Amino acid sequence: MINCPKCGYSLEGLPEVHVCPECGLDYYGETLCLEFKAHSDSWRTIALTVVGTSWIALVPAYRAQSYWKLVFLLWLFAVVFRIIAHMYRSMPENQGEFIVDRKGIRMSRPKRGSKFIAISIIKRANYSIWTGRLVLFGHDAQKLLSIQYWELGGQANAKKCAQRINSLIVAKQSLDSPGGINDSS
Ligand SMILES: [Zn+2]
Repeated sequence: MINCPKCGYSLEGLPEVHVCPECGLDYYGETLCLEFKAHSDSWRTIALTVVGTSWIALVPAYRAQSYWKLVFLLWLFAVVFRIIAHMYRSMPENQGEFIVDRKGIRMSRPKRGSKFIAISIIKRANYSIWTGRLVLFGHDAQKLLSIQYWELGGQANAKKCAQRINSLIVAKQSLDSPGGINDSS
């Protein structure tokens, strides 16, 4: 790891397990640092989408067929839904940090408190595009954590998280198994 995953400060020459001298992030090997937040460009995207599709609102005035009124209502509903969803996602309760390293997963949301899940108690991580959820399963198949993709700033991040967590689980298992490579830490 060359740069701090949180602030970008150069970590060259620093040990693999340490605290970033710039922002205070304590890291352990390759660290994935994500923010809990909705897409930063969402308001712009929403505005562009609404403007780009606003012709739908004008059609009922020129076309007599009543289904255009239905199309317009559906459009209006979608716009309102999207705005409310983004307002909800942008609430301070949904902001914070999500950090994945060799110790485990650390989540902290100032308004909701923090939580730590050790890699050793996770059996697997799964991200489903159908449910939009990143779910961590424990060894007894119980759900340790279930979060929505938007909480992590999008599908790509949620997917990356699941992959990283799974590869950490595999790395941990090969360390723990007899005959596996042992490190002194
Ligand atoms: Zn830093």
